[in-house]
Amino acid sequence: MKSRVFFTDLSSTPQYNLFKKLNKLLLKAELKEIIDAGDLVAIKLHFGERGNTSYVRPIYLRNIVDRVRECGGKPFLTDTNTLYVGSRKESVSHIETAIGNGFDFSVVNAPIIIADGLRGKSFEIIRTDKKWYKEVDIASEIYNADSIVAVTHFKCHELSGIGGVIKNIGMGCAALKGKLNQHSSVKPFVIMDKCTGCMRCIQWCPAEGAIVRVKNNPLNPPSIKGTNPITPFTKRDKVKIVSEVCIGCGECILPCRDGAIKIKWDADTSSMQEKMVEHVYAVLQGKKGKYIFITFLTQISPACDCYPSSDIPIVGDIGILASKDPVAIDQASADMVNKQHGNRNSKLLKNFEPGEDKFRGVYPEIDWTVQLKYGEEIGLGSRDYELIEVK
Ligand code: SF4
Ligand code: SF4
Repeated sequence: MKSRVFFTDLSSTPQYNLFKKLNKLLLKAELKEIIDAGDLVAIKLHFGERGNTSYVRPIYLRNIVDRVRECGGKPFLTDTNTLYVGSRKESVSHIETAIGNGFDFSVVNAPIIIADGLRGKSFEIIRTDKKWYKEVDIASEIYNADSIVAVTHFKCHELSGIGGVIKNIGMGCAALKGKLNQHSSVKPFVIMDKCTGCMRCIQWCPAEGAIVRVKNNPLNPPSIKGTNPITPFTKRDKVKIVSEVCIGCGECILPCRDGAIKIKWDADTSSMQEKMVEHVYAVLQGKKGKYIFITFLTQISPACDCYPSSDIPIVGDIGILASKDPVAIDQASADMVNKQHGNRNSKLLKNFEPGEDKFRGVYPEIDWTVQLKYGEEIGLGSRDYELIEVK
């Protein structure tokens, strides 16, 4: 059976603005069905790293919070702490970053509760009995919430190809240990010929000792072949990655401007996607009929909101989707992005025409459909959907 995905575009008038359209979307998608009076409702979102600007705007969250309150729920905004060193590594900095990005109570009308405790160590063990895991660790306050409203900024992602609901829930509701487990498949390595020894990657790496300096032997220098032509040949030290110490977070890949850090894209990212899906299964299995997904197809950036910057969107803004099926809404989101003309001024390398795969256009090696196929396989949802336009 086809899953229902509701959609509204971004056209509006002074009489019928985007807040009114969003309200109608939530009405049609039956937000009220997932909330009973007095429910503690986790509104799961990404507050954006400090310096990022493409996360979903706080004023939209205010609108969603107010609708949850009207349904009798007690909403709180939530996310989990990050693996990498940044402005959301522990709860104090995370909440300060969220408020700095506009998610103050006076704006959003709801408190912020970081779901996995002060340092990401607060979790519940959920039994799954799936291919990768018998059980997984899920952030405590996600587990303890009565209902989940997942608000997702849809974009590209450097490890999973797309960053949609599955990423928001699977990785985003896992505590530190759960995130480490999902990333454990990712094993980056350095192509020595390309490494210019800038040491930028070391600044981004959260695992002390995972990236180490190695002496560049001037008597046996690496070949010039493959070196970024605008970077002069250098005899500086280079780096290598110690796989036993690396936690697979992938944070070193984008900061390397010389393309020297690679992973085995197919094997590494496919298993990571499937592990993510099993975490989504764990989050949702005890909450049947108590969750809904709202996805913003706006500022569709080439990398995730975990970076302290936001690059040029790969396509124009599209609209807002709502569904109770995490697989269907991600499939619909990807399909709608792929129907657009690609932005030639962005990080899109190819596939500019409508109908061509924009995510492969940014990350040619990542098969982002793995997460959707596996989600369908384990009964999380359907890739077959009916798109219902809400005018
Ligand atoms: S791997 Fe990349 S970021 Fe790291 S030192 Fe080499 S060139 Fe710089
Ligand atoms: S993937 Fe490994 S080497 Fe790269 S930043 Fe993460 S821990 Fe460090």
